[in-house]
Amino acid sequence: MISQFNCQRCGNCCKTKSGGLSISDDDLKRWRKSKRIDILEQVELLVFDNEKGIPISIKGKNWDENKHAVLCAVLWFLPDGKMLKCPFLRNIDKKKYECLIYDILPDDCKKFHFDDNGIPNKNLSDVCPEVRRISRE
Ligand code: SF4
Ligand code: SF4
Repeated sequence: MISQFNCQRCGNCCKTKSGGLSISDDDLKRWRKSKRIDILEQVELLVFDNEKGIPISIKGKNWDENKHAVLCAVLWFLPDGKMLKCPFLRNIDKKKYECLIYDILPDDCKKFHFDDNGIPNKNLSDVCPEVRRISRE
């Protein structure tokens, strides 16, 4: 099913994820290893600080897995703390969008359209024209 998926780049799925994108420890490690500070700067974390013994908020770029246990989902935030749509979604013409970090996507984005068996999530039929198309076949 995943192999039949031909994204039309309408951007609907990314716009739907407004403020709700969760980031995994693996995402953080991948971005740090690839020196993607531009991404890590957009990530706000609530972690348990092992030295201080309390939960604290930190930026993704300051995460240290030896000191900080991630406590909750991470959202895209503006520097002033306001939530916004994903900052890596770019409109390239009237109807097309592109993801500026497609080469190193969050796990949440990779798995967004499919269940664990690789079957498109029919609940997204209203959002995604490709899920709609494949679900009909
Ligand atoms: S990271 Fe890319 S795929 Fe994920 S929500 Fe943002 S623009 Fe969409
Ligand atoms: S909603 Fe579907 S077709 Fe549109 S950008 Fe997202 S994955 Fe691609």
